[in-house]
Amino acid sequence: MKKKTEIKISRSKIDLFIECPRCFWLEVKHNIKRPEKFSSAHIGSKYDPLLKRIFDEHRKINKKPPELEDLDFELYPDLNKLNIWRKGVEYYHPKHNITYYGKIDDLLITKEKDLVPLDFKTTLSKDFNVYDSYKRELEIYGYFLRKQGEKVLDIGVLYFIRIDINEKFEKIEERKILTIENLNYEIYDEILENLKETYFSEKEPLPNPNCEFCKRDFEIIKLFK
Ligand code: SF4
Repeated sequence: MKKKTEIKISRSKIDLFIECPRCFWLEVKHNIKRPEKFSSAHIGSKYDPLLKRIFDEHRKINKKPPELEDLDFELYPDLNKLNIWRKGVEYYHPKHNITYYGKIDDLLITKEKDLVPLDFKTTLSKDFNVYDSYKRELEIYGYFLRKQGEKVLDIGVLYFIRIDINEKFEKIEERKILTIENLNYEIYDEILENLKETYFSEKEPLPNPNCEFCKRDFEIIKLFK
């Protein structure tokens, strides 16, 4: 049997690959990162632990947070298992010899015992935008859970909080629950195949022509074609 390697690729790097194989190749293989844009993900890292605590307190008393009352799903009851998955739902791919993983925020469950991935999102905007990457995030968690033999529904939940910040205070101003339907778990076998090819390739992939950071490189490459 092949031995497990130390190659571990996270959910966010799979998403980076979907966005741009070149950025994935440069960052994951060569530790060259593109410049960071400001995003509310930074604020999310502050509020996610708080929301997990609130959910877990409800879990212990077997009650849903009031915002979830209208949903047909319950909180996933097994906190020990959830805490393992919060550190990483792992999927070791024997042919790639790579462990893929994603740190899920929380989980809901249906009466039929199907799992429903849930992700906390923090925003400063009143619009509660749902980006494609949010859907992919739920899909990748669900895909990993399925690879572990779990039954996972093709519906996920985004639990948004809107933060109001000014120089005097910072507080949760609004909460919103959005269900995301038609999660597609089928596409990720092929995506991981392509990702693995890119990861092990010595050839630098082409930049994304629409990306502001590599636009200049792309123009230069076109000149030499
Ligand atoms: S085009 Fe360049 S900077 Fe933009 S995502 Fe791809 S590699 Fe990264």
